[in-house]
Amino acid sequence: MAAPFVDTAKITVRSGNGGSGVVSFHREKYVAAGGPDGGDGGRGGNVVVTIDDHMSTLMDFRYKRKYTAPNGADGQGKRCSGKDGEDLVLRVPRGTVIRDAATNEIIHDMSDQQPFVLCRGGRGGWGNKHFATPTRQAPRFAKAGLPGESREVVLELKLLADVGLVGFPNVGKSTLLSVVSRAQPKIANYHFTTLFPNLGVVYVDEGVSFVMADIPGIIEGAAEGAGLGHDFLRHIDRCRLLIHVVDVSGSEGRDPVEDFEAINAELASWSPELAARKMIVAANKVDIMTDPALLDRLREHVEGLGLELFELSAASHQGTRELMKKAAQELAQLPPVTVYEPTYVERPPEVDTSGEVTIQRYDDTWVVEAPWLQRLIANVNFGDYESRNWFDKVLRQSGLFDRLESMGIQDGEIVSLYDLEFEYQR
Ligand code: GDP
Ligand code: MG
Repeated sequence: MAAPFVDTAKITVRSGNGGSGVVSFHREKYVAAGGPDGGDGGRGGNVVVTIDDHMSTLMDFRYKRKYTAPNGADGQGKRCSGKDGEDLVLRVPRGTVIRDAATNEIIHDMSDQQPFVLCRGGRGGWGNKHFATPTRQAPRFAKAGLPGESREVVLELKLLADVGLVGFPNVGKSTLLSVVSRAQPKIANYHFTTLFPNLGVVYVDEGVSFVMADIPGIIEGAAEGAGLGHDFLRHIDRCRLLIHVVDVSGSEGRDPVEDFEAINAELASWSPELAARKMIVAANKVDIMTDPALLDRLREHVEGLGLELFELSAASHQGTRELMKKAAQELAQLPPVTVYEPTYVERPPEVDTSGEVTIQRYDDTWVVEAPWLQRLIANVNFGDYESRNWFDKVLRQSGLFDRLESMGIQDGEIVSLYDLEFEYQR
């Protein structure tokens, strides 16, 4: 059997840690005491997601599930900054929705051309050259870099198509797509020939075109996970219009009305919104129709539901143009393809402040280091009021200031936390 089509994947991504700044002093022959020249650490690499229009599945992510961007390099003497970690670029097919694995919230919909930064690399630490001031000419400290972020996300491919073809296997969906567009889907006279969704651009008139998707056969029970159909239903979630293809030839001894209702029931159990989507019915294979009563019954049934029916012979291009014109007319009235808005809410992470803290004093500067403090600072957005407040609260509750007090810190002295420095005020 062919490899299954993969349209969801759970992966773990991690951005790089920032490199450390370094303590170094300028040295030259015959020069007694040079100034500080320790360079900064490089920024950790981001994890960036971009669209690759040559990709149509998330197959690659099934084999590799962990993605880590490189760390920034440490700084060096002679004012040399460490190299930034290179961004790790993840390529995904257009229409991939990125969700938080724990909450299922939407982080981003990869529908437009913009690359998306999924994880920011940690900022590099400053070298001692940065800490020189008139009163502190020989700073003997530098800063460690900040850690990158780690996230577990689910990628979910939801094709971007205006029109979705639905119907039982073998009714002629792929044939229809192939005759109205330049797509070349597999066509064969057995069920489940379509294992991958196919997209085709349909040109109707000058300036009038749309994207149509051929979705692999939806079968009964698909929404409950039986058979092939289940994974594919998500691909029509965004479609603005459905063309429901029904075989009315009677050649397989099927009943068109039953088929039509079975597929509709599938759509409804997957999503009520999908079941309510605008639909046109295409009665296909009229060229080999054996019993016209089948077509008549379907027409009556469909029109009774207020839907339009088009007679079609995809194989002999009969009625295909009229159907595509009708589809274009409908699309002109319908809202654009859905782009999912993010629902993900940034929550401050739990930071356990009970871990070890090192405090070192250099003249009027108190340099504080702790792994939890690194994580805390890496997670603050200092441009955001709420985020700063959260930081302040966690810092107070950690007991750090009490400890500094007990070690004799005075008002106006400097508290130095990684890339943050402030004057202490009790
Ligand atoms: P899908 O599974 O719905 O994509 O169906 P396909 O497009 O693969 O078609 C299944 C079979 O039906 C193929 O052998 C096609 O050649 C045939 N077929 C499709 N449309 C027509 C049609 O209008 N008339 C006739 N006679 N055969 C058709
Ligand atoms: Mg097909």
